Amino acid sequence: MTVINALAIDTEEWFHSELLGGQRPPLFQAPEATQQVLDLLDRYQTKGTFFIVGEVAERHPDLVRAIFERGHEIGCHGFSHQPLWKLSEDLFREELKRFHSTVEGILGKVSIKGFRAPCFSLDNRTKWALEVLVDFGYRYDASIFPVRLNPLYGVRGAPMQPYRISLEDVRKEDPTSPLMEFPNPPLRLWRLKIPIAGGFYLRMFPFSFLLWGLRRINRKQPFLLYFHPWEGYAETPRLKLSFTNRLISYYGIHSALKKLEFLLNHFKFARVDQILGLI
Ligand SMILES: [Zn+2]
Repeated sequence: MTVINALAIDTEEWFHSELLGGQRPPLFQAPEATQQVLDLLDRYQTKGTFFIVGEVAERHPDLVRAIFERGHEIGCHGFSHQPLWKLSEDLFREELKRFHSTVEGILGKVSIKGFRAPCFSLDNRTKWALEVLVDFGYRYDASIFPVRLNPLYGVRGAPMQPYRISLEDVRKEDPTSPLMEFPNPPLRLWRLKIPIAGGFYLRMFPFSFLLWGLRRINRKQPFLLYFHPWEGYAETPRLKLSFTNRLISYYGIHSALKKLEFLLNHFKFARVDQILGLI
């Protein structure tokens, strides 16, 4: 049986990454970069979930309309793309309020079911965010990265499969929880857990390894593939950064869209809400 995987497009500007250290030259490319992804998904008749940054929606309402009209799910990726660890509970509520009123101003009343924290910033230090999501009517979160490799994020010991997330401990399952969690499952090889399904990992690994590794994940479960439109856009500006941050930010941009297409050719994808049975 073919496994259907989740496709998450983190719809943000090229300057939203934490690795750029807050540099924000006023150059806006989200519409062009995202358009390439929309056209590609149309060619493969695939729908995904676009987790949109509120600032991007505010500046480019036509982009939000185009995403919605093509049948993709609209999810929230924060308003300002601040990681949760830089916000308080009150500031997070403000962010969501602004996000919802912006999207409502563009599309009218649509149901926003899914949240994806900028920089995978949901862990037990920021679990207060889960209560806020419940208050705003969210049905699922897709922010848990169950591997600790990057100093900025990762929740060791979190489940790999979608689960009902405990509001007390993000690593625990609670069947009574109102929120589902779709974590980003890594490839498990012996004792290793190797993230491969998105971002820098997707840009770094060769096609053949991605195919082999993702098929291996699919033996047990769906994976969540995440992609940032700027990662596949040739004109993404290259800023002066430390060697490591430059590598993680820009390596493989020239072939990232081809890799996405390669995966669309070899795997089946759908919106996150569809896979979780929320539509
Ligand atoms: Zn992001």
